[in-house]
Amino acid sequence: MQEVPKPPAGWIPLAKPFFDETEEREVLATLRSGWVAQGPRVADFEAAIAEYVGAREAVAVSSGTAALFLLLHSLGIGPGDEVVVPSLSFIASANAVVHCGATPVFVDVDSRSYNIDPEQVARALTSRTRAVMVVHQLGLPADLDAIHAIAQRQGIAVVEDAACALGSRYKNKPIGGQGTPACFSFHPRKVISTGEGGMITTDDPQLAVRLRRLRHQGMTVSDLERQRHARLIVEEYPEVGYNFRLSDLHASLGLAQLPKLAEFLRRRRSIAVAYDEAFSQLSGIETPFVPDFATPNYQSYAVRLVGVERSGRDQVINALGERGIAVRPGVMAAHRESCYATARRVGELPNTEAATDQTAVLPVFPGLDDDELRYVIEQFSDVVPRVLAQQ
Ligand SMILES: *Cc1c(COP(=O)(O)O)cnc(C)c1O
Repeated sequence: MQEVPKPPAGWIPLAKPFFDETEEREVLATLRSGWVAQGPRVADFEAAIAEYVGAREAVAVSSGTAALFLLLHSLGIGPGDEVVVPSLSFIASANAVVHCGATPVFVDVDSRSYNIDPEQVARALTSRTRAVMVVHQLGLPADLDAIHAIAQRQGIAVVEDAACALGSRYKNKPIGGQGTPACFSFHPRKVISTGEGGMITTDDPQLAVRLRRLRHQGMTVSDLERQRHARLIVEEYPEVGYNFRLSDLHASLGLAQLPKLAEFLRRRRSIAVAYDEAFSQLSGIETPFVPDFATPNYQSYAVRLVGVERSGRDQVINALGERGIAVRPGVMAAHRESCYATARRVGELPNTEAATDQTAVLPVFPGLDDDELRYVIEQFSDVVPRVLAQQ
C-alpha cells in the first residue's frame, strides 16, 4: 500500500489564533491590576478599534452574536418586524433577529461573491421590513452602496454583520467606518481574537450611549465611573438591560492583537495570492471572486468545486483530512437547518444552495508557514482532479 503523505508538523488546522509574549504580558498586567471585569482595558480597546476602523464610537460586548442582537434591539426592532438577512451565513446572523422577537426573511446571495444580492433585497421588502442585515461573508465586503440605495428609498435601517471583516475595506475605507453600525466578532476563528468577544462600531453617539447602557443591565453609570468617584453616584435603570459586558482580561488580549493586525493581513493576503496562482491552473475549481470595490481580509479562503454534488465536495474534504489538512465546508445555509425549516424566504435560494454544497474553505492563518502552504497546495492539486474524475 502506498503511504499517505503527512504535513511537516503532523496536522494543519483550518485556523489558529496567533498569540505570543505580548498577549501573555497584557493579560498578566490586567490580572495583577485587580480589575478583571469590564473597566479601563475595555475602554482602551474600544478606543483602539474606533480609531482603526474610523468610527466615532465602538462599544464592546461579550460576543459577535450579542453585538448583532443588541444593535437590532437598540434600533427598536421587535415583534411584528421583518429583517432581511442572507441564509448563507453563520446561523448567528438569523438568530440575532429571532432573539429580538422579529422575523428573519431569507434572501439569496450573489453566485460569485456569496454576499447578499441587492436585487433579492428589493424583492424581499414588505410594509413590515425594518432593516437589512448585510453580512460581509468570509471577510469579503458586500456592495454597501447598492444596499443603502434600496434602504434609503424604503426608509429602513442597514446593519452590518462584520463578524469576519475586521481589516477589510469597501471602496478603500475600512469596514466599520462606513457610517452604518457594524458588528465584529473576536472569536478565535476571526482575524484577531480575545477568546470570545464582540464590538459594535457607530458614528451615532446617542446609539452608543444606549448600547453601553443596555449591555450593563440598563444602568446609567458604568462600574468604572462609580469606582473613580469618592462621592456616591446613584445609578438609574431607565430600561431593562442585559449582561453583555466584555471583561478586561478579554480586552487586554484584544489590545495586544490589534497592533499585529496589519502583519496578519499581509500574511493572509500572501497565502491567498499563492492559492489563487496555484488553483487557477486547476480545471473545475473557482477561486474567490473579488469585486473592484472590495479589499478582503481573507478571514477565509473559499474555493468552489464547480458543478459537483455535496458528496464530491465532502470527498475532497475527507481525502485532505487523511493527508493531515483541515479543509471544511464553506458557509452554512440557515434555511436548511430544522430550526429555520419554516422560516420566510424569497424564492428558492438557488445560489445559496449551490454555494453551501460546492464550496470548501482552506487553511489560512498567520502562523501557516511556507512549507505547510506548499504542502496544502500540492495535496489539494493532487486530490481535486482525482475526485472530479469520479464525478
Ligand atoms: C462568527 C460569526 C458571528 C458570531 O460571532 P460570535 O462572536 O461567535 O458570537 C456572526 N456572524 C458571522 C457571519 C460570523 O462569522
